[in-house]
Amino acid sequence: MTYRIAMDFAILFLVTGLFLVLVFMRIRTGSIAEDYENTAEDLIYEIESGTASEERLEDVCAFLRVVSKENRETVYHVGEEPGKLALGKWYFIKGNGDLQVYVRQKLPLLLYGSECSAEFAFACTEEWKTMRREMIIFSLWYLGVVVVAVFVCYVLVRAVLRPIDEMSLQVSRLNLQNLHKERLNAEGSKAELKELAEGINGMLDRMEQAYEAQKQFVSEASHELRTPITVLQGYSSMLRRWGAEDKEVLAESIDAIESEAKSMQDLVEKLLFLSRHERRKLPFAKERFDMAEVVRELEKEMVYLTNTRNMQCSVCESVRVYGDKQALKQAIRVFLDNAVKYTDKGDTITLSCKNRNGACEITIEDTGLGMKREDLEGIFGRFFRADTVRGKNIEGHGLGLSIARLIIDGHAGKIMVRTQYTKGSCFTVTIPRQRGV
Ligand code: ADP
Repeated sequence: MTYRIAMDFAILFLVTGLFLVLVFMRIRTGSIAEDYENTAEDLIYEIESGTASEERLEDVCAFLRVVSKENRETVYHVGEEPGKLALGKWYFIKGNGDLQVYVRQKLPLLLYGSECSAEFAFACTEEWKTMRREMIIFSLWYLGVVVVAVFVCYVLVRAVLRPIDEMSLQVSRLNLQNLHKERLNAEGSKAELKELAEGINGMLDRMEQAYEAQKQFVSEASHELRTPITVLQGYSSMLRRWGAEDKEVLAESIDAIESEAKSMQDLVEKLLFLSRHERRKLPFAKERFDMAEVVRELEKEMVYLTNTRNMQCSVCESVRVYGDKQALKQAIRVFLDNAVKYTDKGDTITLSCKNRNGACEITIEDTGLGMKREDLEGIFGRFFRADTVRGKNIEGHGLGLSIARLIIDGHAGKIMVRTQYTKGSCFTVTIPRQRGV
């Protein structure tokens, strides 16, 4: 990379040098030709005034031909016309290995009253050689400067690129095994590179967190699945040994297997929901609907499923909501299920739905177990179960509230919790009025 950049610079410098040489040559040849044009004009003046002697003309110019414009005849000439290798105003004649250079000037002149044209050829080999020498010296100097400049470029580019090279080496060494300990070294880098390195390190931190969370999720999901599988295995071996004969064991086993299968199905569905959400494949089918109706349906469901709790419901006439009806119903059901799970016989569960400043407010309150202050922070995390419920043989995987929160978040809603250990809990869900309502 460094080498390629240095080569690119070298080519750029050389092309610039070539251009400069051409410009320089153009200026020098132009000035030589101009000098001889002045000389030619002086000679024409002398010829016209009759003061030019043949010796003087032979001295100054290598060749002169005066041609009458009228009949194209040569009326006067001095010296021999140099060969024909002409390049514009310049003649180049190579003879005996030596280069002869002449510059040609053609000017009008009046000779004895008739219009003529005078063509001069001045020998300027020496000027040409001087110019060539200057050109060579300039080129050599320039080449020297190019070599130094390219070397300096190479050193600078290498110094600038070294940290990038190191970074790419470090990045190429990264893999899932060393993601937790390998980070780019931002120390000593220039400010912009430091920012880049810190940016990449930040990204690596986030990737590591996401990877760890994923690992944690898989391990906790496997752990959750392991319990029902163990129970199923236990009952199936019990059935194999005594179940066929013992009607009581048979009935108990079938009940247990049924309940564990249900629990597993519930867990797997929740896991699928979360993994779909993780991959952002959770499109909400939003529509306008009456939330009050949904809450009334949920109340009926609850009354049908549990008759040991005192259910109280206060639902206002109609609360229009714009959202995914089924998803929101699923979320409210989580709070209601919990209210049932974490209460005892005779406890009261109050469900209400009202319109508050255009937003829909649903409250699920219970007089059950409640939560400790320190548990409150974790309840929306995945697989979280408070210690106060763990030993109580209450079914659950600690996923319900995280799913409910995803759904409510997807509707720009809010969840508020009030709770007091042993006294009960109150979850308030607010779904704001959205465009389209
Ligand atoms: P699960 O109920 O399946 O354990 P959730 O995510 O629904 O999972 O709830 C997480 C935890 O929050 C519960 O394990 C429990 O400790 C606590 N919790 C939730 N709702 C209530 C409630 N109404 N009363 C007491 N504790 C609750």
